Amino acid sequence: MPRKLKWTLDELKKLPRTRGEAIAQNKRYYFTGEPCKNGHLAPKRFDGKCIDCRRTRDRNRMRRLASERRGETIWTDGHSIHYDINNCA
Ligand SMILES: [Zn+2]
Repeated sequence: MPRKLKWTLDELKKLPRTRGEAIAQNKRYYFTGEPCKNGHLAPKRFDGKCIDCRRTRDRNRMRRLASERRGETIWTDGHSIHYDINNCA
């Protein structure tokens, strides 16, 4: 299944409203009707994370990984960060 980037309101309305319903219907996403804390009107994954937030985070992580592959070291607060590529759910 290709990754969905845009959700229409109709599509969102068809999604389960709660995590329990999503599990019962064997769906990967649900939509509570409320935007997430970052204001995304996007479904939440069954683990409760907003998929837009997750996508933003993944994009940032990919950017860091690309930098590391180019030999740049990312330093934060004096510690180098190691990202586990296989950590993707
Ligand atoms: Zn979000």
